Amino acid sequence: MSDDDGKGPKGPKDPKELNPDDFRKTLEDMFGKMGGKGAFPFPGMDSKMFTGEAEDEAEDEVDFSKDDIFSFDLLPRDIKAHLDRFVIRQDEAKKALSIAVCDHYNHVKAIKADDEEGRKLELQKQNVMVVGPTGVGKTYLVKHIAELIGVPFVKADATKFSETGYVGGDVDDLVRELVAKAEGDVSLAEYGIIYIDEIDKLASSGGMIGRDVSGRGVQTTLLKLMEETEVPLRNPQDMRGQMMSMMDMQKGRKSKDTINTRHILFIVSGAFSGLEKIVHKRSQASQIGFSADAAVPAIDKELFQLVTTQDFIDFGFEAEFIGRIPVRVVCEHLEANDLEAILKYSEGSLLRQYEREFEAYGIDIRFKDDGIEHIAKLAAEEKTGARGLMTVGERILRDFKYELPGTSVTELVVNDDLITNREDHLAKYRELGQELVVEKARQEVDAFVREFKDKHGVTIKLEDAAVAKLVKMAGDQARSVFQVSRQHFRDYQFGLKLIQKNTGQSDFILTEAAVEDPDQFLSDMVVKSYKNQ
Ligand code: ADP
Repeated sequence: MSDDDGKGPKGPKDPKELNPDDFRKTLEDMFGKMGGKGAFPFPGMDSKMFTGEAEDEAEDEVDFSKDDIFSFDLLPRDIKAHLDRFVIRQDEAKKALSIAVCDHYNHVKAIKADDEEGRKLELQKQNVMVVGPTGVGKTYLVKHIAELIGVPFVKADATKFSETGYVGGDVDDLVRELVAKAEGDVSLAEYGIIYIDEIDKLASSGGMIGRDVSGRGVQTTLLKLMEETEVPLRNPQDMRGQMMSMMDMQKGRKSKDTINTRHILFIVSGAFSGLEKIVHKRSQASQIGFSADAAVPAIDKELFQLVTTQDFIDFGFEAEFIGRIPVRVVCEHLEANDLEAILKYSEGSLLRQYEREFEAYGIDIRFKDDGIEHIAKLAAEEKTGARGLMTVGERILRDFKYELPGTSVTELVVNDDLITNREDHLAKYRELGQELVVEKARQEVDAFVREFKDKHGVTIKLEDAAVAKLVKMAGDQARSVFQVSRQHFRDYQFGLKLIQKNTGQSDFILTEAAVEDPDQFLSDMVVKSYKNQ
């Protein structure tokens, strides 16, 4: 323990002499002065970070291990079979990625970390370029591959780097993020996968995006990462990182302070709109009658066969950069029937998610085939690939998800008719929910009536409209219908017994008016009973 008595810092100490508790206290005292008691002035940080406690707490969550990589024994067909469970279509991309990933990790296995023999083995890294529009499963593929192999995986958009121009630090952060995903296990992070989307936005000229300077700068930095470089584990501009280094030092930890990128697999992707024109122009240029204005279809499997490295260079990539990405594949546009298949057959189908969400409210949601077909058709019109499914699903089900929970509806059937006549169905379910609520309320009212009869020997009956009113009141007051009924008619026995005496009446019907104004209703009945005496 510290010799500090907790009354504040005692002037500077040599940091090497401090134990973690002392150090934390010193930091807290220091920052407490700056930002009030206990305040820690860096977002996302607390003093635990400096003592290693935070890391220790997180350790349990690591779910990949380097052993998995070194015992890698999957075949390309195994990986594809795994992907088939989740990703619909995109067979070429699945094959290309499966092969690239197998080659990569077999190579990693062969070199066996620091094995000298292994180090001598040379292999051109199988970095992959996936060309395709948004929402067709590019990220989804990479995510599932990383999960299957058990390596950390990081995704980023290349546009993120453009904002700060070509500050290399930004790109390096990706590598550091891998370490974070591997819960600080640097040697595992060195075998991770970095996936960069919107890579086409780094093109400098051909794509007519016109980001010559910064785009090329980021390409150069990325190129270095893709080849081999040592990235410092602590960002030099990051206060937290620097402090953690300090902590490591004073704790006597001798950990690596850089991460090597030699075995990190890079997968990049983008929509590459405009690339089709470049390919088309080149492949048609020699032909007589070529028209520059002719409409060119978006890149598909056939057109992609014709894409050359030169086309990417014409699009605006540096030759060295594109040369480092030898595996190129297209992910195709998804049609309505593909979206339908995604809903029906993908293990990650959105329908499962809706089922779980409604189940949480005790509602069994069922999607009929014609309903699924309709959702897929509407989603295809969104032109955002499978992402459209979520947009459409949300649009169709939002009101149901808001209104049905808390009513007695326990089943919701989503068919073509519900989607076409949503309002009608909503009204029907609303009514059904209400009917069932009234039914339940009726039972509570009956219990109240029985209690009233047992206690006072007087029989009362409530009309439907009266019950409906009580339901509304119970809802407004967040009480049960039984409680509200009791409270509402609490002194009724005196008046009713008087009437009984006057007229000999044994049953009393309570109408909506009785619920609206119980006193007035009872007085009127009593007055009438004297007249009828
Ligand atoms: P992108 O191609 O833009 O990277 P994503 O892979 O992020 O698109 O797709 C978004 C979501 O849509 C995924 O999380 C997944 O649920 C679904 N999805 C997209 N494409 C497919 C597909 N081919 N098969 C199954 N689900 C898909």
